[in-house]
Amino acid sequence: MLQKSFAALAVVTPIFCSAAFAEPAAVTQKPFGTLKNGQNVTLYTLTNSRGARMEVLNYGGIVRSLRVRDSRGRFDDVVLGFDTVGEYVKSSPYFGCITGRYANRIAKGRFSLDGKTYKLATNNGPNHLHGGVEGFDKRIWSVRPLATNNGSALELRLTSPDGDQGFPGNLAMRVVYTLNNQNQFRVDYSATTDKPTLCNLTQHSYFNLAGGRAKSILEHRIQINANRYTPIDATSIPFGNLAPVAGTPFDFRRARTVGARIGANNLQLKNGAGYDHNFVLNGLNGVLKRAARLEDPISGRVMTVFTTEPGLQFYSGNFLDGFKGKGGRVYARRSGLALEAQKFPDSPNRPNFPSSVLRPGQSYRQTTIYAFSAR
Ligand code: BGC
Repeated sequence: MLQKSFAALAVVTPIFCSAAFAEPAAVTQKPFGTLKNGQNVTLYTLTNSRGARMEVLNYGGIVRSLRVRDSRGRFDDVVLGFDTVGEYVKSSPYFGCITGRYANRIAKGRFSLDGKTYKLATNNGPNHLHGGVEGFDKRIWSVRPLATNNGSALELRLTSPDGDQGFPGNLAMRVVYTLNNQNQFRVDYSATTDKPTLCNLTQHSYFNLAGGRAKSILEHRIQINANRYTPIDATSIPFGNLAPVAGTPFDFRRARTVGARIGANNLQLKNGAGYDHNFVLNGLNGVLKRAARLEDPISGRVMTVFTTEPGLQFYSGNFLDGFKGKGGRVYARRSGLALEAQKFPDSPNRPNFPSSVLRPGQSYRQTTIYAFSAR
């Protein structure tokens, strides 16, 4: 409550304005409540010349809202989220945040590197998930607007200390969010370390391109550029093989609706549990390539995902179970889906998977783009 009224009273302050361009994209900021430890949470608003608008919190680097137009020119919010920071702290299923130091799971929270075994925080049954008990989604990032001549941009910085959640090495990260005039939400990540460690970051937005006009994403059409995926055990850890998608409900090489085969009699779909799998993207690791395309038939909105990462986790919102979201909306099962560009789950324990090891002197880099259009 306090957080709500605080935000409502706040004066919106423009903090960056590039006057050299016809349509200067201002980044504004306003308070968005306070954490129990007294840290202030700030909400930044980015805009572009096409009228798109994105709200970002310094808490978790969370994308709180993203408004893009549909085929009739109507703007709607296409991501799931909450109205108050208290709800993000208490019960967020990773809505919109940056996850790390290791996005996705590490089996039993254990891995070995250079002959030493590390024990990580476990927070998902026996496994480590999304950085542990206090992942990067629960940290206050240092945020500042960046000058750009194409839309508006924010820089987010965070240093994770040596031993954080069990990971070795001080990890210094810089993430740049850009909402450009081509209606792309672009995320550029970089990170360095002072000891060998793991680094696997992702953006965890849940999308519903109908923007509230459809309660579920089952009618969204999805295409994923992957010939293979990584089948998982009962605790969602990959067995280690790269299985062909051909002839399975995981074949999204041609667009299909999410719901078309989600209930298929297939062991990997666990009797209707749904999609929560890593797809092995076609194309080269480290090279920007088209990964997926999502289309909502109601609004005509299309989102195309490009990434430098080798994997894409397609999560069909199976564990959403009635969260009370923005503006009183209730997020039932499958009311949003996530497409998380990343290294493969449990890669530290799978020498045949692309490595997530980062060493001193190296630089972790990732670019992922969510490009919006309408048809
Ligand atoms: C995981 C799901 C998990 C969700 C929220 C996704 O990235 O794959 O298994 O439930 O995040 O934590």
